[in-house]
Amino acid sequence: MSRTIIVSNRLPTKVNRTDEGLEFQPSEGGLATGLGSIYRSENNVWVGWPGLFVDDPTERQTVTKRLRANSMAPVFLTEDEIRDYYEGFSNSTLWPTFHYFTQFATYDDEQWQAYVTVNEKFCEAVLALAGPEDTIWVQDYQLLLLPELLRRARPQATIGFFLHIPFPSYELLRVLPWGADLVRGMLGADLIGFHTFGYMRHFLSAVSRMLGLSIQNGQIETPTRTVLVDAFPMGIDYQRYELAAASPEVEVHQRAYREALRDVRVVLSIDRLDYTKGIAQRLLAFEQLLRQYPEWREQVSLLMVVVPSRDQVAQYAALKEEIDELVGRINAQYRTISWNPIHYFYRSFPFDELVSLYRLADVALVTPIRDGMNLVAKEFIASKTHQRGVLILSERAGAAVELSDALLINPTSTNQLVEALNEALLMPEDEQITRMSNMQDLVRQYDVFAWTRLFMDRLAHSKVKQHTMT
Ligand code: UDP
Repeated sequence: MSRTIIVSNRLPTKVNRTDEGLEFQPSEGGLATGLGSIYRSENNVWVGWPGLFVDDPTERQTVTKRLRANSMAPVFLTEDEIRDYYEGFSNSTLWPTFHYFTQFATYDDEQWQAYVTVNEKFCEAVLALAGPEDTIWVQDYQLLLLPELLRRARPQATIGFFLHIPFPSYELLRVLPWGADLVRGMLGADLIGFHTFGYMRHFLSAVSRMLGLSIQNGQIETPTRTVLVDAFPMGIDYQRYELAAASPEVEVHQRAYREALRDVRVVLSIDRLDYTKGIAQRLLAFEQLLRQYPEWREQVSLLMVVVPSRDQVAQYAALKEEIDELVGRINAQYRTISWNPIHYFYRSFPFDELVSLYRLADVALVTPIRDGMNLVAKEFIASKTHQRGVLILSERAGAAVELSDALLINPTSTNQLVEALNEALLMPEDEQITRMSNMQDLVRQYDVFAWTRLFMDRLAHSKVKQHTMT
């Protein structure tokens, strides 16, 4: 019987070394939830890095055994590989380039070599498990070369690829000395999925301009195969947020927050620390709101959660300093004895508290400069079971394509952010309810399980089509 193999840089479980021995911590991320039903069923498996350096062969065996018992298979990476392939090529070359931050991109041949080597390592790990006709679903920008490597070894396999970040315009891609190799790597798949049609069109244009292949009706004709591409906007586990929103635990947190903040209105901002998220621009807009609309002083607070991320990469450390400084400056200038303009948290929040924050917020300010999708926007919507609250959303987040009932803004325009904030704070309740209900209908229907189903069905279909053509 054929099986399905999911492949991603990280496994949905993180292995930690503690004083008591190895600890296995399952991740609750969206992808892990969405693909949970697949990799845990029958004899399917998820292949990826367990998040820990393991040199000792006996310890490797222990880790492998424990993971295999839970439908996972580890790819062990060395510290050098993580530095050059992950922090290096993936996060310092591909991430900035694909998010249109070329000024932050580095072009290092050694890191590229590490990227090739690690993709090959993943390929070997998959081949050790995969039969000739299995279905393999590769995830994201760390593994762009893997579909083609797998295709060479398993010409008959069904291979899917999904990119979780934007696919940039050809003009950005051509800056990379390895642009054509990356596109060729992706073309090993039978089906390539993106969050939006915009990203898909950029990919098709790169394929025709860099590789000279012909494209008909969104299908790419390579000399040997047809490759399908399509948009599959990723969703969230809607019900999990909806249920949590009604739970006593969330209610308790929410009440405690509300008491501490008294009747101050709350603007919420939640992101990983990243220059793509527009965090500094958001702070400047909040400062301008207080300057330009003094009536909001002592009436509104910005609650800003920044989740630590990639602090080994130089730009992230610099951004952290910039945010610290801005928050300090704005608070020092505007605070009163009884009111704090910005409540700033540099840490992550447990799930229940996160949902309490979503429920507490009058306005969610989601203003990335570029974002593949942005799940925070969808989680805010799912948590608003009472339909009160306004979403301000960057038109350059993938989520903006679906969430047209948000207040859509250009995140580089401080004026637009300020005006949207003022409008959101003044929005009549019936308008809030209409907009929120519309967005809830959509986010509820296209949840992460629908996303998985749509992609897997399409992938199976693409293979049937190939068979009938050959
Ligand atoms: N998140 C979290 N802990 C926090 C704050 C956020 O786990 O304290 C989660 C949040 O629920 C969301 C994810 O981080 O699912 C962020 O996903 P998004 O697509 O918005 O951005 P990304 O970080 O993937 O660029």
